[in-house]
Amino acid sequence: MKYAITDKCVGCHACLLVCPSNAVFADPDNPKQFMIHPRRCTGCEDKFADPQCASICPVEEAIVNESAMAVNPLGSLTGIELRREC
Ligand code: SF4
Ligand code: SF4
Repeated sequence: MKYAITDKCVGCHACLLVCPSNAVFADPDNPKQFMIHPRRCTGCEDKFADPQCASICPVEEAIVNESAMAVNPLGSLTGIELRREC
């Protein structure tokens, strides 16, 4: 597994359209939840400098790398910094 989709996914189809490995598919039980086939995903390393799914995904924390770290963490797309209550 290189990348995975979390439950933050809203099923917008964008990643499915750009994946060069046909690794993205909709959860048959939940069409608003997309998934990445763990054996098909190459991480795009053979074709692109960046994972295309994460590059196009409009939702923060929807795609994680193999270390389970969000490729687009909170605030990275919106520019809105997180405010944590102390
Ligand atoms: S990293 Fe690349 S190959 Fe893997 S799911 Fe995303 S777009 Fe497809
Ligand atoms: S681009 Fe992001 S929000 Fe859209 S289907 Fe893929 S993972 Fe889900």
